[in-house]
Amino acid sequence: MPKYGFWIAILLAVALGYALAHVADLPPSFAEDAGKLSPVQPRARDFYAPNSEALGANEMRIVACGTGMPTARPKQAASCWLVELGNGEKFIFDIGTGSAERIAALQIPYNYLDKVFLSHLHTDHFGDIMALFVGGALMGRQMPLRVWGPSGDTPERGTKQAIEHIRKALTWDLDGRKGITDPRGYHIAATEFDYKAVNQVVYQENGVTIRSWPAIHALDGPVSFSLEWNGLKFVFGGDTYPNKWYDQYAKDADFAIHECFVTVPQMVEKFRFTPQSALAVGTQIHTAPEAFGKVMSRIKPRMAVAYHFFNDFDTSGDILKRIRTTYDGPLSLSTDYMVWNVTQNEIRTRMAITDEDVWPPPATEKPQLPDASQRIPYSDFVGGGKLDVHEVLQPIYDETNKKYGINEKQDE
Ligand SMILES: [Zn+2]
Ligand SMILES: [Zn+2]
Repeated sequence: MPKYGFWIAILLAVALGYALAHVADLPPSFAEDAGKLSPVQPRARDFYAPNSEALGANEMRIVACGTGMPTARPKQAASCWLVELGNGEKFIFDIGTGSAERIAALQIPYNYLDKVFLSHLHTDHFGDIMALFVGGALMGRQMPLRVWGPSGDTPERGTKQAIEHIRKALTWDLDGRKGITDPRGYHIAATEFDYKAVNQVVYQENGVTIRSWPAIHALDGPVSFSLEWNGLKFVFGGDTYPNKWYDQYAKDADFAIHECFVTVPQMVEKFRFTPQSALAVGTQIHTAPEAFGKVMSRIKPRMAVAYHFFNDFDTSGDILKRIRTTYDGPLSLSTDYMVWNVTQNEIRTRMAITDEDVWPPPATEKPQLPDASQRIPYSDFVGGGKLDVHEVLQPIYDETNKKYGINEKQDE
């Protein structure tokens, strides 16, 4: 070691210690410069956080709330598409099994979620109607749930019959809520339109026009929809074999959803279909990826959206490859919580990041107190079976009455 090496080392150590101890004293300008160099500085988000972004006056937001199949799975609910417009209107297209949970994750007050358009009556397209109907009413929808859907080739196969019977099936549920909760949301009304009507208006309010045309799938009855607003055109195909109506009326859509089924080899290997039934279901009842591409190459949307397949690491590659044999335009292989912001100039595609612990958003209007006389009492037999726990419940009444300045009493 050189003669002064020891002392130099000591000096350096002291200087370093001084510098570290005074980092916090550095002038702000220096701290800012240091911050700019950090890779963890805040920057614009590349995901969509529900309940955090206002829509522009000319903007449309579409959220995939179900992109899967009739077979329930955690990753993908069955068909459901939310369309939100810059004028405040919101529309739900299909409400397939599992999708009510996705809608809940978007934290939208239920008063805005009162309009549902059904493409057809397979459970993977309307299986969660009960959950939206009753859950929405309980959590702040203070108006009836309105449902639009196609007629069938017989009255029994139409939307009106299906919704009336769902309401009947809920007799016990709805009776049990009488006199206990705000009653206004517990009504469901179906508007049925002719499934054979071609590009016919089924809804027109507040600058929004929704049309329907026939689809070819399983039986007579299924339809596709377009929604036009403010120069933007959204199309939802529902389930269908490629058909001449979609080819004509989805043309030049800004945003076009069409089913794109699991490939035939995937159906045999993953779903254990026989090759015969895989061919029948995967190419004849539904639209094969190659045929999806053919449809999109003819209508040329600003964004083509494929759904109705399990979108996994080991399935999407083959589906994409097959679509690309017939279509080379803009494409989304959709999965749940994919979000598109559509304006005349741009289509931005992101994923929503949602909160598993989400609670319902507050109602937009004050709840109406129910008429307690509507309540249906227990029979003497069942009511007489209550244990006497008045003593332990009374403190809850005392606490709540005091906190909110009310004077509620326990049931006898
Ligand atoms: Zn179907
Ligand atoms: Zn389906």
